[in-house]
Formats: sequence, structure tokens, C-alpha cells
Amino acid sequence: MPPLPQHSTIGIIGGGQLGRFSALAAASLGYRAHIFTPEPGSPAAQVTPLATIAAYDDEAALTAFAQSVDLVTFEFENIPAASLALLSSLKPVHPSAKILEISQDRLAEKTFLNAAGAPTAPYAAVASEADLTAAIAKLGLPAILKTTRLGYDGKGQALIKTPEEAAAAYAALNPKPLILEGFIDFACEISVIVARNQAGAVSSFDPVENRHKNHILDLTLAPAQISAELAAEATRLARLIAESLGLIGLLAVEMFVTATGGLLINEIAPRPHNSGHWTLDACPASQFEMHIRSVAGLPLPPATRHADAVMKNLIGPDDMALWPAILATPSLIPHHYGKTEARPGRKMAHYTRLFPKFSLPGEFGIEDAIKPR
Ligand code: AMP
Repeated sequence: MPPLPQHSTIGIIGGGQLGRFSALAAASLGYRAHIFTPEPGSPAAQVTPLATIAAYDDEAALTAFAQSVDLVTFEFENIPAASLALLSSLKPVHPSAKILEISQDRLAEKTFLNAAGAPTAPYAAVASEADLTAAIAKLGLPAILKTTRLGYDGKGQALIKTPEEAAAAYAALNPKPLILEGFIDFACEISVIVARNQAGAVSSFDPVENRHKNHILDLTLAPAQISAELAAEATRLARLIAESLGLIGLLAVEMFVTATGGLLINEIAPRPHNSGHWTLDACPASQFEMHIRSVAGLPLPPATRHADAVMKNLIGPDDMALWPAILATPSLIPHHYGKTEARPGRKMAHYTRLFPKFSLPGEFGIEDAIKPR
């Protein structure tokens, strides 16, 4: 397929901040973005006039949407399989429905990753309480019980420390089936974002370190403060996964750096990712531009960074109380998502501070360096 001509319309499923920045990147590249979201006034639909407000399983709305765009991509993974099949029958969908289906299901994801030669935590399928007993016998405790589908930001999972906790954890987690994962004693969490286009060109951003608070991403440090060998191995794994999937689009690969210096893949997301927000400010082409370029069949520039960066998420009303101070601090680069209601736990905005390359502040300087003044 030749590159998508300028003025074409890219349909984006999902109306959140990832869609907002992707729509802005589409505009910079000469495209229009049409957002499909059930949410009126969504972050993405605030930056483009083309929006369909309908449920993700509304077949009539999906059909009209597909007919009005040139290709379909997404910023949100939990699209029903029937909707994906319908869209795929009408227009090119990138990344493919098959890739989305793998990433929607932790069991399918781990099975795929291990077959591709990308290591994960040990795991076992749990479709019943008897399965859970067997899985605990196999993996030992502590272990983490998770829903296979619909989990995010730590929702849909429970840490099991003793056998007595197993039955309650099993009962509490829905929807079934579940998966038990061995507990990884990790040194840090990193991610690599990789883009691949139809011609097979691949570009990957440097591995970054992700720090969470209350199971929600709090800080991203770019680059991750790991050895060059480990960074190269993380990049190799992300590229291997993209190739094995036959990816057309963008993929975020989350990994654990284990206490012994190994790498295990935690999960993959075939879309822009919160841990790539720093690329808006520190890279010539951001993850969102790479997303649009890769699905549109455009050339992929190298994913180089011209600066080191720390990205800070602003979550809920408490963080947003800092917004005026952030705007008054010249070194902080603000990105608002346009959400009117700052509910606790909701990602409202982020900011980035850039540093000359190879000069991220040391461990004890980070908090001070990114504090609004
Ligand atoms: P997830 O929804 O799978 O990304 O998990 C959310 C967070 O829980 C991760 O970012 C980790 O901090 C932690 N976590 C998930 N799986 C494991 C595991 N197998 N061992 C240790 N920590 C985990």
C-alpha cells in the first residue's frame, strides 16, 4: 500500500489523552482525525471536529464511522472482538485485530510472548478454585492473581501471600477466568516503545524507567538508568515482539528488571503509552507521530532523543491543585488533557522537565528538580 495521501482521514477508536495527542500528530502530518468514543466532550474530540459519540458495540455507528475514514487505529484496547471484526471488514485496521486480541488477554499474551522467545513471569491459567490450588502448588507464594481481561492500573489483581488468602482473592476478582503469576522481586520497571510500518521499518525509543504510586504511573525517567547491555537487550526484545506480531503501528512493551539483572516482559500494549509522553518534548518525532506515521505507511525517522527527561503525571484533584504553579515554573512543560472533572485516580495532565543528555539528576535530586515553584 502506498503512504496514506495527505488530507486523508484516520479513524481513532477511543477519546482519551492518547487519542488527543495522536489526533494532533495526525494534523501535523497533514491528516484529519475522526474520533470514535462513547464519551461526549472527550479529550481527543476537543482537538478535532470529527467525532462519533456511540458505544463500542454500536454496529450502525461503527459502520458509518468506518465508511467515513480511510483507515482505523485505536488508543484504547478493550474494543469488543465483534466490533473489531466489523471494522476490519470495512477498512484497514492497524495494529491488526489479531494483535489487539492477544494484548486483551493476559493468558494469550504470555503464551504468545514465550513462544516468540520473550521471557515472562512464570504463570498458570486459573479457571476454577481447584486450578488456583494447583497453580499455587506449582508457582509458590507470594503470587499475583489477575483477571485475564479488562485489568488496568492495578485493577483486577490481588497479591496472595498465604494459602488462606486464596479463596477470597479468587471470589473477589472478575471477570473470570484468571491467571496466577509468580511474584517478581523486581529492581525496577522499564518500558520500550517501538514503531513498525508496513514496509517493515522499525524505530524504537530508548528504554525508560517507570515509577508507580497507588498502582498508577507517577514518573517516567528517560532514559532508564540501566547498563548499556541491559538497554540493548530490552530494545532487542521489544523489536523481536514487534516483528513476531507482524506489527503495523506502535507497541509499548513493559518489562521488569529483576533483582538479578534479567528482563521479564510484564505486558504489551499496541498503542501509544503513558510511559512515552516524554517523547512529545524530548524527541524530534514523538510516540504519537510514530503512531500515525506507522499506521499511515510513512517513513519512520529514528526515535532519537535530543534530551533526557522526567515526565510527571498529574492525577486527580490534589495534583491539579498544582496546575497554576506548574504554569508559573518555566522549566516545566505542561500538557493538559481537557478533562473537566478531576476525580481521584484520574489522569488529568502531565508535565515534562528536560535535561541535557546524560545529565538526569541523581536519585535524590529528582523530586526537587521537577517540583513546581
Ligand atoms: P499490570 O496491570 O500487570 O501492569 O500490573 C500493575 C503493576 O503491578 C505492575 O506495574 C507491577 O508494579 C505490579 N506487578 C504486576 N505483575 C507483577 C508480578 N508478577 N510480580 C510483581 N509485581 C507485579
